[in-house]
Amino acid sequence: MDTTSAADAATPRPATTLPGSPREHLSSPTTRAVLRLQHTVLDAAREHLGGAGFTELLPPIIGPVTDPGARGAKQVDVDYYGHRYKLMTSAILYKQASLTAFDRIFCIAPNVRLEPLETSSTSRHLAEFHQIDVEIAHASRDDAMAVAEGLVAHVLRRVVERSAGELEVLGRDPDAFADLLSGEPFERRTHTAAVADLHGLGHDQNPDAEIDWAGEAVLSAKSSRPFFLTDYPKGSRGFYDKENPARPGRLLNFDLLAPEGYGELCSGSEREHEYGTIIARMRETGENPAKYGWYLEMVRAGIPGSAGFGIGLERLTRYIAGLESVWQASAYPKVPGVVSP
Ligand code: AMP
Ligand code: MG
Repeated sequence: MDTTSAADAATPRPATTLPGSPREHLSSPTTRAVLRLQHTVLDAAREHLGGAGFTELLPPIIGPVTDPGARGAKQVDVDYYGHRYKLMTSAILYKQASLTAFDRIFCIAPNVRLEPLETSSTSRHLAEFHQIDVEIAHASRDDAMAVAEGLVAHVLRRVVERSAGELEVLGRDPDAFADLLSGEPFERRTHTAAVADLHGLGHDQNPDAEIDWAGEAVLSAKSSRPFFLTDYPKGSRGFYDKENPARPGRLLNFDLLAPEGYGELCSGSEREHEYGTIIARMRETGENPAKYGWYLEMVRAGIPGSAGFGIGLERLTRYIAGLESVWQASAYPKVPGVVSP
């Protein structure tokens, strides 16, 4: 089966160029329009979440341990006074811990993941990026999906209202968002249904794994508005995505995919918070619980059940701005493997 050609037909044009010199990149009219638009995205996200009772916390950048759930990416070690610390691949552990103080939190969190070299040409991977990272105590997956949907819709509404000039410079027609802003709920499809759709389209998707990047692009290209995929199989995600007690082997999680071939914008889930289950899930996913001292101590003393998600800021900006590549959504882009400031 030729999955590559299906994806090629679906994906937005791959970036043929890499960033030029920092001066060239920063001062280009495109970059300046993108960064102004991204400023509107950040303002709108803070406005929406702040208005919904979320407290913004500044996330740690280094710690003894970080999210192990990044598919295929390497973590970066830091020598912290003789202790081996990590740069954060995501804020998940701190998000869960923070709910012992606040019921609704968010952070705009920098993440570093040394993605495999082959991702340098996917147009959607950076080695350094940011997430709009949200966590809600005592919430279900549905609650988290509702917040993600409301957030994306609010951001798009504000961009259309406030960034018309930037969209024009970028040649992005605001009508691309008319469907999204219609007020209709985003479609929800299970992983099982998405796999069946892909098989129907001749794409050889493994039913027990993440939807692969080519498959994601195919599904994304067939939609004109963002949509959710839910219920990923257990082996495909980190220990903190809660298993569905009513459907063993399936997680109470979701991805939000952008339309037009731009692919994944966001991943989220209801979280595991029971000490014994977390230890068992860590072992199942090949993690050594002994590394997670501070986190497991907090979990043992009790953290609230929760649900949450992280939206990739540069991915969201890329979709809104209609960019060829995600690196265009960063002032100082780190394309995997490319030496850069
Ligand atoms: P993950 O925890 O891997 O699902 O990451 C959360 C979100 O961050 C994803 O849905 C993407 O939007 C974004 N993201 C993940 N990895 C990268 C990357 N290498 N470059 C840019 N954005 C990323
Ligand atoms: Mg993901």
